[in-house]
Amino acid sequence: MKTTALKHTPVKLAIVGGGAAGMFAAAVAAERRVPAVLIERKARLGSKVLMTANGRCNFTKDISADDFLSDVGPAAKFVERAIRECPPRKIIAGFKSLNVPLRRMADGRMFPADGKATTIVHAFGDLLRDSETPVLTNCPVTGIQPQKTGFIVATKNFTLWAENVLLATGGVSYPKLGSVGDGQNFARDLGHRLVPYRPGLIGLETNDPRITRRAGRRYEDGRAKVLGPDGATLFDYRGEVDCESFGLSGAAVYNSQRFIEHAHLKDWEIEVWFEHERLRFRNLKPRPVKEAIVTIGGVSLDDVDPETMQSRIVPHLYFAGEVLDIDGPTGGYNLTLAFATARKAVENIWKDSRYRSEATK
Ligand SMILES: Cc1cc2nc3c(=O)[nH]c(=O)nc-3n(C[C@H](O)[C@H](O)[C@H](O)COP(=O)(O)OP(=O)(O)OC[C@H]3O[C@@H](n4cnc5c(N)ncnc54)[C@H](O)[C@@H]3O)c2cc1C
Repeated sequence: MKTTALKHTPVKLAIVGGGAAGMFAAAVAAERRVPAVLIERKARLGSKVLMTANGRCNFTKDISADDFLSDVGPAAKFVERAIRECPPRKIIAGFKSLNVPLRRMADGRMFPADGKATTIVHAFGDLLRDSETPVLTNCPVTGIQPQKTGFIVATKNFTLWAENVLLATGGVSYPKLGSVGDGQNFARDLGHRLVPYRPGLIGLETNDPRITRRAGRRYEDGRAKVLGPDGATLFDYRGEVDCESFGLSGAAVYNSQRFIEHAHLKDWEIEVWFEHERLRFRNLKPRPVKEAIVTIGGVSLDDVDPETMQSRIVPHLYFAGEVLDIDGPTGGYNLTLAFATARKAVENIWKDSRYRSEATK
């Protein structure tokens, strides 16, 4: 075999984290022909996605970008551009174009028609296989170091040279699924501020026997209200209320807990309605962040440009998904946020590299 001199070549984009945001980013990179490598610490891609909606994957909600943004809460301003460019209907069209049969619930929540999250993860896997996108699994990234050009991306046994890095390592809930806060730590070490972690969309603890004796029962026609110290209703949500051995859960409770956390309420009551009961509880403790559906907190949005998802501190370093201090309510919002922020980052890398290659012609 003829040996010609080989040169070290950086990959255009290293995507760290093969969850919702990372898989979507790799798919957009394939579409835009941005050479990318997807690096995942676990043995398979999308471990958390496989757990979503009890394994059914409520991947978005079929509503307008305006409605999505008005529901999403504090992150709305930061994610507005990303969501307008990648609204729920574009995500739905994207899965349809991958031949994934879909099912729409009456309230707009979208699922794969077979009710299997594996169908969504396989759709990404097939796309990455067909586009010959390199995917490294069983490969935790251990460090990121900016160089004169690009970054050294370190893993346990070798390093990679990348022009751009996208951190898509998720939040800190369900750490067994791989999201343990590595991306936030890399970002902090590179000078970014972190907003402290708090649980979002989590159950509330009570040992009231009216709840615990019903453990395991789900009430789809439930309702939960959050009341301030003067008894005024601050939040009101109709949705599932579930009784657990530890206390309360279900969409209505989750969204109430998230409201309480974001409003920084110290003294509050929650009123839950289910069956013929209407019960009030005061200042219940949330379950720990490791059990939360989403992490509130993460890389500070002040240090990231919402027009590009690029760091304001380290050029060519990008963020997408839950690693950022963004979160939404239950109902497909969090996966949508991961997808849309991932698209925004990769589109910017694509535009940026096109601009630079035009400029050097
Ligand atoms: C039980 C449960 C149910 C949920 N249900 C829904 C739902 O139905 N709809 C919805 O919209 N949202 C749902 N969510 C939330 C949603 O799953 C997350 O918001 C979303 O997965 C975030 O995407 P992400 O890519 O930012 O993070 P993740 O999907 O968590 O992906 C991060 C990936 O990065 C990898 N990683 C971390 N560190 C490293 C490292 N150092 N090197 C390499 N790889 C690394 C992890 O292993 C992981 O695979 C649910 C969450 C949970 C826990």
